[in-house]
Order: sequence, then C-alpha cells, then structure tokens
Amino acid sequence: MGAIIALSIGNGPVIPTPLEPKNHFLCSGDTCSGQLWYRADPDLHAMWWNARRLNKACQLEAFKNCIAGGWRNPPSTGSYLALTFSPDAPAKFPDVDITEFAAWLVTAEGVTPVAVEVQSSKVGMAQLSATWPTKTMSEISVLVIGLGSIGGAAAHALAEYGVGTLRLLDPDRLLAHNLVRHVGPPEGVGRLKVDVIKQQLAALRADTVVETHPWDVIESAHLVRGLLLSVDLVLCAADGVAARRVVSHLARRAKKDAVLACVLADGSFGEVIRLRPWHDHGCLVCRRATLADKGGIDPEPGLDAGYGTGTTHRPMTAVGGDLHLLGRLAAKTAVATVLERRGHTDQKLPGEHLLLALRPEIGWAPPFDLTRNGETRWLPHTPPRPGCPTCEPA
Ligand SMILES: [Zn+2]
Repeated sequence: MGAIIALSIGNGPVIPTPLEPKNHFLCSGDTCSGQLWYRADPDLHAMWWNARRLNKACQLEAFKNCIAGGWRNPPSTGSYLALTFSPDAPAKFPDVDITEFAAWLVTAEGVTPVAVEVQSSKVGMAQLSATWPTKTMSEISVLVIGLGSIGGAAAHALAEYGVGTLRLLDPDRLLAHNLVRHVGPPEGVGRLKVDVIKQQLAALRADTVVETHPWDVIESAHLVRGLLLSVDLVLCAADGVAARRVVSHLARRAKKDAVLACVLADGSFGEVIRLRPWHDHGCLVCRRATLADKGGIDPEPGLDAGYGTGTTHRPMTAVGGDLHLLGRLAAKTAVATVLERRGHTDQKLPGEHLLLALRPEIGWAPPFDLTRNGETRWLPHTPPRPGCPTCEPA
C-alpha cells in the first residue's frame, strides 16, 4: 500500500502532492523515490484490466511497446512501480470499467498490474446532487438537544443527509461508562459531548457546519428561545420528561416543528414523536393525556408535573445499536419534515408518532401493543386539550 506524495516531469522540479488528511495512516509510512509515471496507449489499460481479471502478469516487451516515451528498463534484480496515464482509455473501452490511470510493478521478468485508486476532486455531498436535494439540505439548520447515545447518532445521521448547519445543545461531558453506547470514541472521555460530536463531524462530514452550546435546556430556556428563531426544526433526544416537556413548549411557542425521540419501558419500545405548531395538533403533554384517556398506558408518568419533578429515564436499559437506530429514525423524520415543507412531496411520512418495538413486552395496551421485534406503528396526531398552557395562545 502506498500513496503518491510528490511527482516530477523528466528532470524537472519535484512538486509535492501532500496526502490528506494529515493523520492518514500512510503519512507516517516510509518514503521511497525512483518510481515512474508514463503516458501510455489505451490498449495498455485494457491489458491492465484483463491481467487483473485473470490474475496474470504481462510481458515486459508488450508493456514497453505501449509507453509513449521516457522508457526506463527495470534493474536486473529488483523492480519499480509505474503509474500509467491514458486519458483516452475510458472512451476507447466504454463497455468495461477501464480508467485513465493504471499501476504496475515492473521487473525484468514481467509486469504485474497493481490496484490503483484515484481520489476525485469532487468531494462531499455534491456527489449526490443528481438524486438528493443537496442544495436545499445545505440551507437547512437543525437544533439538536441532548447529545447522548440517541442524539449523537441523530447528529451523525443529520450530517449524512447533508443538513447545512447543526446547533448542538448539551451541558454534559462524555464519561467512560457512556462509551458502550455512545458514538463518541474513548479519547473523547472528559470532553463536552457537543465538542466530541463536532470534532467527529468535522472529520467525516465537512459539508455540515456545527455550532456548540453546552447548555442545559431547562436552565437556559431563555437562550434556547433565541436559538429556535434561527433553525428550521428542533430534534430533542434529551433524557428526562422535564427536558422533553420544555422542548415541546418552546418549539410550539417559536412556531417550529419538533421531533422528539426516546426509549420507553426499559428499552422495550422506541418512540419518535413529531410535534407541529398547528392549531389542531396537540403538544407532548396533550398527546400523552389523550392517549391515556383512550385507555393506553402512559409511558411517561410525571410528564405533567412541575419542572424537575418528573422521572428521569432509567439509564443503561437499552443497547447502543437500538439507541442509534432510534436516533437515525428521528433524523430521518426531521429531514422528511423539513423537505416536505419545502415542496418535496416524496418526503411525506405515514403519521406523526412512530412506535418501534425493540424488545416488545407482551400485555401493553394499545397503541403500545406491539408484539414482534422490529414492528413499527405510525399514529396520527391528536388535538390540543382545552386549557393547555402550551397549546393555547399566551
Ligand atoms: Zn398541549
């Protein structure tokens, strides 16, 4: 395995071609000079393609005859690597995948084709623009509240969808016991979770701008109000019913769509709720109350209690893969919501409230009566309840 880090033409000056990124594993490898590049006849690249397919070497003379100029014989014992460039090769052989670059190990006994990878100058989401609305996505801004195991995976997924700006809000630091379920790496232990995710996305998804806000959503509700003005949607993966209730309230008042994701019943169910700031759609508290009135179980008891008195979801009851799956579903829901609003009718969702059985428990009342692992159910919205301090205008 090697990479080209400098090249020259004839006896001309050596031009460095630095390897990116700077921490690429080959950057710490040995350097060796004396390898060559040639212009070549397109037939040579057909020969390369065929020899690779048959796992065979080529004759040195046949190889030499296809080289345009500057030929050098290999040493009698030893070898050199040659990169051949034939810009007409792809057009001459359109039916097979023959590229303009090929690589070879050249010895006196024969020439062996070597795999070569040429990195395109076109990088990032722009490569997907024929099939995905990358430009629209680049204009979208999402506030992610809670960067735990669900929120971290959701942030990654949002960037993978090409969301232009992510505003990450979480006051917590990554701790050693988080690693078993979090997308963050061991070297991030002790750092703010928002900074861990920002660093990961800077390396993996350079199209996405990430801003960090190490705030608690309840204590800093006045600041969150300001942030909401500048985003298209808020995705809440914060743990605890109080934080979820606050996000439901603030998003509605800011007239923003909100997507809330959590696991329920010790990891038995995953849930993604979409809250719209519309007059006939109820907030999170109204939704839970309406479902309870219909005979369903209230999976979030204490949601309507005062700040700080609600129960916190018990930790470590779900496995990381399930939490990441839920985070990704929440991101998918968020992206669909924003795109549909911008006219992408193919992004319409089946409902406003997704239930996903992760390890279903038998005996739950509807709508939580999912019995098969992986089963999903989409529910419609429910209306606001009279007197709700969130749903009724202030
Ligand atoms: Zn309400």
